[in-house]
Amino acid sequence: MSKNEDILELYRENTMPTYSPSLVIASGKGVIVRDAENHSYYDFTSGIGVHNVGHCHPNVVDAIQAQATKLTHASNLFANEPAAVLATKLVSLSGLGGKAFFCNSGAEANEAAIKLARKWGAANGGRYGIVTFRQGFHGRTVTTLAATGRAWCQEGYDPLTPGFAYADFNDIESVKTAIDDKTVAVMVECIQGEGGVTPATPEFMTALRALCDEKNLLLICDEVQTGMGRTGDWFAWQGYGIKPDMFTLAKSLADGIPMGALVSNEKLADVFTPGSHASTFGGNPVAAAAALAVIATIEDENLLERAKEIGGLLKEALEATVDKYDQALEVRGKGLMLGLAIDGDPAEVVESLKSMGLLALTAKGNVVRFLPPLTLKEEDLEDAVDMINDALDELWGE
Ligand SMILES: *Cc1c(COP(=O)(O)O)cnc(C)c1O
Repeated sequence: MSKNEDILELYRENTMPTYSPSLVIASGKGVIVRDAENHSYYDFTSGIGVHNVGHCHPNVVDAIQAQATKLTHASNLFANEPAAVLATKLVSLSGLGGKAFFCNSGAEANEAAIKLARKWGAANGGRYGIVTFRQGFHGRTVTTLAATGRAWCQEGYDPLTPGFAYADFNDIESVKTAIDDKTVAVMVECIQGEGGVTPATPEFMTALRALCDEKNLLLICDEVQTGMGRTGDWFAWQGYGIKPDMFTLAKSLADGIPMGALVSNEKLADVFTPGSHASTFGGNPVAAAAALAVIATIEDENLLERAKEIGGLLKEALEATVDKYDQALEVRGKGLMLGLAIDGDPAEVVESLKSMGLLALTAKGNVVRFLPPLTLKEEDLEDAVDMINDALDELWGE
């Protein structure tokens, strides 16, 4: 058996079958990853929206190495400098004037947002209800699963945390219907990622902010997939000209070192009090140092601009496939978060892309999803587009 197959077999025999990998990734550099036998692939998954600055960016590697020799953990009994600087930086990039809370994942960041909303709501009219959206995705803990308005991932886990109501995305009337006198917050992804790379319309986000103001509700943006430059803004809500009361980050925050964050406005900055929420590893100095290197790299390499530029080129290339094939229906998304909606099984397209040497993802609603690193070079994009065209030609060509 091959080295890849050996590892896959060991993995399948000894890890719970929540995932079904068909490839081993052994190393990565920039947009390229290699399997255990040194075959290379263009990684247009970025580890599911994690490597916005690419695999093993030298700035991030240096920051991790330097911090690892100094201090890897101290607990929240003590402050550490990378976490303090990172919180300051995130609050400043957001312009919300509030504070940050650190944790280790997207689900945990959303869990913190939900707890903060409830704590604020308890003191503001005894309210606890949260409205989320059908086809949304907020995580896999019992509470964030309740926030995730999708039957297929909730199945088998009843009873879920009560207090959630679901509305239709991009439909403000359905939000109004979902709100009652116990509602305290609305939680939304500016672009639904797992749900199909579906952007909120500008009118919807404006109306949602106005509705939250009118009803004294908190607006929570889940930026776990859209954040850190993915859509061409630091945070996708900035592209809508609205401000949430708080937003969450994780995936791309520390380029592969597990880290989550909740960032609030001034109103919510001191709602959590000592002991009211915590996470042992939250604000871990290695993760915080990696995140600071990610932010510096996005700034130094002008990656917000690049996400727009390179994203525009990829979007054009995908739109050309819509003109060419009846099975290619529509291109959706923003910056380097793009989806090709197809008439067919997106897993088949992903498999065909893989055989060409390109890794992509699926999303719900028959979507092939592309999340390449924001550091993607034009010549690599051209190569990748050739692979996409070859794969689609093989599947759908005459
Ligand atoms: C991935 C994702 C999450 C969950 O993040 P985990 O780190 O897997 O817990 C939450 N919200 C959105 C929008 C995501 O894309």
